[in-house]
Amino acid sequence: MAKDGQKKERSDDEGSSKDEPERKAPGFETMAIHAGESDEEHYRAVVPPIYHTSTYKLEEVGKFHGYDYSRSGNPTRAMLERKLACLEEAKYGLAFSSGMAAVNAVVALLESGAHVVSEENVYGGTHRLLSKVYPKYKIDLTWVDATDLSKVEKAIKKETKLLWIETPTNPLLKILDIEALAKIAHANKVLLVVDNTFSSPYLQRPIEHGADIVVHSTTKYIGGHSDFIGGAVVTSNDQAYLDMAYYQNAAGAVPSPNDCYMAARSLKTLALRMRQHCFNAKKIAEFLDGDSRVKKVYYPGLPDHPGHELAKKQMDDFGGIITFEVNGDHETTKAFVSELHYFALAVSLGAVESLIAHPASMTHASLTGGEKQKIGIKDNMVRISVGIEEVEDLIQDLDIALTKTIGTRK
Ligand SMILES: *Cc1c(COP(=O)(O)O)cnc(C)c1O
Repeated sequence: MAKDGQKKERSDDEGSSKDEPERKAPGFETMAIHAGESDEEHYRAVVPPIYHTSTYKLEEVGKFHGYDYSRSGNPTRAMLERKLACLEEAKYGLAFSSGMAAVNAVVALLESGAHVVSEENVYGGTHRLLSKVYPKYKIDLTWVDATDLSKVEKAIKKETKLLWIETPTNPLLKILDIEALAKIAHANKVLLVVDNTFSSPYLQRPIEHGADIVVHSTTKYIGGHSDFIGGAVVTSNDQAYLDMAYYQNAAGAVPSPNDCYMAARSLKTLALRMRQHCFNAKKIAEFLDGDSRVKKVYYPGLPDHPGHELAKKQMDDFGGIITFEVNGDHETTKAFVSELHYFALAVSLGAVESLIAHPASMTHASLTGGEKQKIGIKDNMVRISVGIEEVEDLIQDLDIALTKTIGTRK
């Protein structure tokens, strides 16, 4: 297995002798372009090649050059894993064939009899895995509203091994305090896992705030173009890394070299895309916030959002996702969505094009009516993933659809 070179590798680590002026640590944008890549191999090609191979020739029996079989390791995947680790300020990265495969690799660290405390408003697929699949293996679960730290403390028991959160949450965009939750977790010998998909490493690096394991659906902002499914886990915990790397090879949910290349290529423009997503989302949130046709806007960048101050502390900006309630019933909401021109009605998020979803019937359809009500998912609620189109076009699109279904802006 080729897990060498996994350690944080910054492009300028080598080659600086005593006579050379000291270079400061590279910024995010610089790492996104250069980290994890090496021009010593591959004929010094500026762009690393895609290693489309399943297997590797041994020199002789027992002697191989780092890689033996592409489920166990592949140079294109290793390049992506190093780049992701670097951007998340972590020691190790592991890439998977989907975000759910990455989530599963973390949950599979547990032995039967273990207990998980999870934020109740997590991604629908994570909710399904924890509540429908793992109970079969006697892995017990308690949902909590993790904005209330005392509820988290109360939910932890001696069998608890993982504290699972997302921040901002999906689709309510609650902001959870990573640092405070890490303290609670560590005081109880529990690992804090943060699904960082909504923020991307450009906006938030949970390891810096004490998280033990970070999960991504690279399908979303990291991929950024809605053209592949992928996932990743990063960590600086040696044992968790070894166990998950073992599981990655044992269970085999690995991404293709091509998808790894696409993810690594997309990371190079992550900063540029995120800045535009955040800029557009802020303008749209402000437009919606002052509109009587909209009942409520959930966006951490708005000063009256309950997590605004915390988001300012742990994130570099407020992200590209906005959830809002249409001022009307389910039928009005459906009509509004179908009048949109640029916002495609689709699950997923984080890509260059704008999307709109109806969480109650789409992303969170696997929750029961009672569960939806308890966490606050309503029938008149829509979630938009703001793309990087010209923001005035997006605002006009929303305005026209609202005018057609409810009336003119007041
Ligand atoms: C999409 C998503 C996942 C699952 O990722 P897939 O790539 O669809 O398997 C997990 N967590 C969050 C927050 C997501 O948005």
